[in-house]
Amino acid sequence: MDKNEKVNELARRRGFLWPAFELYGGAAGFYDYGPLGAPLKRRIEDIWRQYFVIAEGFAEIEAPTIGVEGIYQASGHLAGFSDPLTGCKECKEVYRADHLIKHIIEVPDALKNEEIYKCIQENEIGCPECGGELSQVYEFNLMFKTMIGPGNKMTGYLRPETAQGMFINFPRLLRYFRDSLPFAAVQIGKSFRNEISPRQGVIRLREFTQAEAEIFIDPRDKTHPRFAEVKDIKMKFYSRQAQEKGEEEEMTFGEAVEKGLVAHQTLAYYVARTYQFLLAVGVAPDKLRFRQHKSDEMAHYAADCWDAEVFLDRMGWIEIVGVADRTDYDLKAHASVSKVDLSVFVHYDQPVKRQKLVVKPDFKKLGPRFKSKAKAVGEALKALSAEELKGGSGTKDDKIKVVVDGETIEIEKDLFSFESVEEEVRGIEIVPHVIEPSFGIDRILYTVLDHSYYEDVADGEIRAVLRFKPAVAPIEVAVLPLMDRKELVGPARKIQEQLRCRGMRVDFDISGSIGRRYRRCDEAGTPYEVTVDYETLELGTVTIRDRDSMSQVKVPEWQVADKLQALLNASIKFHEAGDLVAAVKKE
Ligand code: AMP
Repeated sequence: MDKNEKVNELARRRGFLWPAFELYGGAAGFYDYGPLGAPLKRRIEDIWRQYFVIAEGFAEIEAPTIGVEGIYQASGHLAGFSDPLTGCKECKEVYRADHLIKHIIEVPDALKNEEIYKCIQENEIGCPECGGELSQVYEFNLMFKTMIGPGNKMTGYLRPETAQGMFINFPRLLRYFRDSLPFAAVQIGKSFRNEISPRQGVIRLREFTQAEAEIFIDPRDKTHPRFAEVKDIKMKFYSRQAQEKGEEEEMTFGEAVEKGLVAHQTLAYYVARTYQFLLAVGVAPDKLRFRQHKSDEMAHYAADCWDAEVFLDRMGWIEIVGVADRTDYDLKAHASVSKVDLSVFVHYDQPVKRQKLVVKPDFKKLGPRFKSKAKAVGEALKALSAEELKGGSGTKDDKIKVVVDGETIEIEKDLFSFESVEEEVRGIEIVPHVIEPSFGIDRILYTVLDHSYYEDVADGEIRAVLRFKPAVAPIEVAVLPLMDRKELVGPARKIQEQLRCRGMRVDFDISGSIGRRYRRCDEAGTPYEVTVDYETLELGTVTIRDRDSMSQVKVPEWQVADKLQALLNASIKFHEAGDLVAAVKKE
């Protein structure tokens, strides 16, 4: 078994990830999170909330997972959210055509379908299953379509991303944030994509969890007030230029912005926050890089885009987060389809004085000329905008056209004059730009499993360990009575209860030898084990075992909850928790 198989086998056996609907034959692209997987996922999401809701002051919202057609017409998903599909003419299996040529062309996203097909033909690529000839390449829309209500009156789509929920609530969010920029909203929830042939476990799902933030900013100023907090952090940047050389460049965020590698401070700030979050949940820094989208890979409207990529056993570099400057594309698209103005009035610090050309109607002359309509004509003249006036103020025989009651009337120059007046401008209307960090929670969770997995030797045997950070561990402490005897089980249950009262995630295990129980805890990624033995009865001490080092310390029973709490939040080191048990005990 290679590491990938071992991780997947462990994940299935121990209740992290189960292929869904197994009882009914299963379906590719769907997974269940079991009793260890679901809390691991929840804890990763909670840390995400710490970073992107609490620390940044963003608003979390929750929109429906089904959306109406207009949304996806505006967002472009209806017309363009598709993948290139090819099928085997022999066995009828279907494939993502671009995936079949990935080993030939590194970023095939930029190719047209005909070009992919040409590449397949030129390289004589056949069906991976049976070697048969592959068909022409065509587009397959990835959205799941459904019907809202009975009859065929209203089409709905399962959302392919959570982002649209934030965009279409823009006017309400703007009001919630008291009409001022910048502000941001986030959503953590399910998204659905009818992926063509998902074969990579939870890396490519048809129903998956996204955590997305839409940060609305004033496009005139893309600096970030908290950039100083992240500017000295060093990271591996895999910029466009670096990709030409095939080597990542390590530098600080400050340098990356200075050199123009990352478009601006705000984008760099959120890339940095993404980096910090990924490390906090347990992504290995030496298997993480940020890759910049190439110009032909990036959506045409985007100003810059960086993907967090992780190295996974067998799969290579995989995108787990995308951080993009999407400019004003989304809001403009929704404004245009919904016919609702999605701009923000931004006040200047000081009102600005400006000369404005206005028309001054000569009512004495307009009266006799237009009789009962004179007043309306005069008002129409006054209402003309600067642009409309521009053409009219030049030559002598200029006339101005106005529309009154649907009738176009030409007005000679001697019926009005121009006047320059001073006006006070308090601000301008702008369409905000959007910075979007978009996280795939399932991919992050899988990365945490893969990067946490390691093997060493205990008691002459290989032991498999998930070295979870305590902050994500589905079980934080296991309480283990040395033997299944009443006099030990009783006090152990009391300790379990005491730890639960402190809010810890506690497991209790009395089945099998202590060694086997430690192995089970290692596989579940439980950082600490409390063992209750006869010394507990005699001396009132218990042992705490450290998963990673397998060292043990003895602590008085009455201190165990405090010590564990301090260990879990890393305010003490393991050897500071109690008296170290001389040698690593035989497990
Ligand atoms: P995208 O909108 O395609 O950039 O996706 C945003 C994030 O969602 C990606 O970085 C992935 O982590 C995740 N993601 C996209 N598609 C899938 C999928 N089919 N299964 C699981 N995660 C996905």
